[in-house]
Amino acid sequence: MATYLVLLGAPGAGKGTQARMLGEKLGLPHVATGDLFRHNLKHETELGKLARSYMDRGALVPDEVTIAMVRDRLSQPDCAFGAIMDGFPRNLVQADAFEVMLAEFGCAIRAVLFIHVGQSELVNRLLKRAELEGRADDNEETIRTRMQVYAEQTRPLLDYYRNKGLLVQIDGEQSIEEVFQNLLEVVT
Ligand code: AMP
Repeated sequence: MATYLVLLGAPGAGKGTQARMLGEKLGLPHVATGDLFRHNLKHETELGKLARSYMDRGALVPDEVTIAMVRDRLSQPDCAFGAIMDGFPRNLVQADAFEVMLAEFGCAIRAVLFIHVGQSELVNRLLKRAELEGRADDNEETIRTRMQVYAEQTRPLLDYYRNKGLLVQIDGEQSIEEVFQNLLEVVT
């Protein structure tokens, strides 16, 4: 049975770093919707042009577009044994669609790993990332919007997955290596 893991956490919680490390360790692709959108943006595809206005504001790209992109990505041969999901699902509509999609593939989510980091630490990290990586959406106003979008749309997923018995909370304020070890303990 394929292994689908979902990483949940606010922007700046370290999902990307941990998803990459987990993917390498488990031999599964890291599927990050933010990276997929940025790739499309860079190559100026139709999808990229559509996504840009939402990303620049820190808003979510419409669900139909995002869900179709994920379905397409997960249908690639390298995802045959599962994937580490980073940044998807991000709201309840996407969570429902993801469940239906996996059921069609004859699979289910193995675990939802919630990396918890406190608010002030999150803002510090995002501002630091803005300096280091120069991501266009890491400015103060967009960060505020993304935090708000997270609080309103993504945080309800915590209860949703907790009620399904899938949620595991990890302390994301430890070192990268400690967080990684905690995650590995859950999934191996
Ligand atoms: P991220 O790299 O995960 O922080 O995503 C960067 C931006 O891409 C977000 O602020 C959204 O505009 C868009 N995005 C990424 N994942 C999703 C998603 N699952 N649903 C809608 N928009 C998304």
